[in-house]
Amino acid sequence: MEDMATIVIVNATHCTRHAFVPFAGSDSAFRRVLAFARTLASPNAVHVVALKGFSEAVPDAGLSLVDTGDMRAVLMAALAACPDPDQLHELVYVHGDAPFLDAELSATLLDTHRRYRAEYTYADGYPAGFAPEILSSRALPNLVELASRNDIAAERDGLFALIQKDINSYDIETVLSPVDLRSYRFSPVCDTRRNMDAALALAALGPVSAAGVVRELPERPELLRTLPAFLWVQVTEGCPQACSYCPYPLMVGDPRGRNGFMPLERFESIMAQAEDLCDDLVVDLSLWGEPALHPDFAGLASAVLARKRFTLIVETSGLGWAPGLPESVARAGRERVHWIVSLDDDDDAGYRALRGEGRDEAAAFVQRMAASWPKQTHVQAVRMADTEERLEPFYRHWKGVLDGVIIQKYDSFAACLPKRSVADLEPLERIPCRHLARDLAVLLDGSVPPCKHALARQADGKLAYAATMGNAFAPGGLKAAWDAMGAWYADHAAGRLPPPCEHCDEYHTVNA
Ligand code: SF4
Repeated sequence: MEDMATIVIVNATHCTRHAFVPFAGSDSAFRRVLAFARTLASPNAVHVVALKGFSEAVPDAGLSLVDTGDMRAVLMAALAACPDPDQLHELVYVHGDAPFLDAELSATLLDTHRRYRAEYTYADGYPAGFAPEILSSRALPNLVELASRNDIAAERDGLFALIQKDINSYDIETVLSPVDLRSYRFSPVCDTRRNMDAALALAALGPVSAAGVVRELPERPELLRTLPAFLWVQVTEGCPQACSYCPYPLMVGDPRGRNGFMPLERFESIMAQAEDLCDDLVVDLSLWGEPALHPDFAGLASAVLARKRFTLIVETSGLGWAPGLPESVARAGRERVHWIVSLDDDDDAGYRALRGEGRDEAAAFVQRMAASWPKQTHVQAVRMADTEERLEPFYRHWKGVLDGVIIQKYDSFAACLPKRSVADLEPLERIPCRHLARDLAVLLDGSVPPCKHALARQADGKLAYAATMGNAFAPGGLKAAWDAMGAWYADHAAGRLPPPCEHCDEYHTVNA
């Protein structure tokens, strides 16, 4: 065992420019990864895998330039980097944009891997970028074959996602974090502006270690709010249904008679501002109203998809789509477009009670989209006391048609709607709101509420947003509104909850 070569594979196929710029006034994340790799590797056993056209210097390291950034290409390069395929080697697999790879945690992983003669060892519950993954070379040929049957991008969770495809075939060991930090979605790696800012904020606190971040992160909510990850935009005013659990009819009256929409140039302005603010983003249409009713939905979708690191989510009733329109958007966006169709109930009477007419058209829309884009099409049902017993058959039926069945938690919109939830999913201790840390919401007129959920009942009985943080079309735009939301987040962190938040149980849920 002791004679085994340790080969470090640095995956740089998905690295962005953030990985190669100086980090915290010193070496780039990529250079730090190479330096870390040299401390673990046997002599001359650091190997970088990058896409063709990669031009960074990789001193004292091997380099494989691959055509595609998928797991098959990376694993083939890893296999080729093993000096003697007939001998057993251990491979330490890291990503080229992680400035905080931790020596102590890596030693624990290697020790566990060797002691139990594992084929794959990983750390669970730590934020991204602290731990390598360890592979035995004896698993590599099999993994290459598995990767040739499953097209999986060589992104951060690519190796784990691949192994999950046939998880019982491998001897796997796990090193668990003493505190499970996955729900924090803290990712201090240099891949996006948001994560780079988080990494810099962490570095500014002093020496960084995996043990330190486990200790500190729960006490430092300010690290979790850098730039938005999820942007709701309301693009239409009307909706073909007035659902019984939706607050929108109580805000504007019956939406079935409304036909306002956001002009394309205004939407384009929001996208341009969003791109200035953060380089990657999930854009969700429509915050309220049915996106199919927008007269230029194709234009809206193009404005999102023109930004290469933006993803589009279309939340729809499945009603009113012009023939061929969703298909052409799906073709243009491929894996960057997701369709979430609210069906709620397979039972005719139940559907009508919740949503009104249109079940057959909505179900046909799902079938039509799922036939060509099964991974991009999802059905959704809100879990409520009155539909609970029909939810399991609904789930089983649609799981047989497509992978993506979303059971959404019922939202009372800060107690503006009656209590209909089935289970209390709140954490034992209140945490600062994740929506204030990660989401932005823009209404039809450009105004930015604190979040989607912060409604309050007005003197006339109608519902309206409890506050406005700014307007996307006013001076300062989205950035000023995002900064203003920071004051609400700081209040949450200090235990002072603004009035709607006191009655809201959405604070621990996450969109992206
Ligand atoms: S606690 Fe609720 S109402 Fe308050 S900001 Fe968060 S999601 Fe919105």
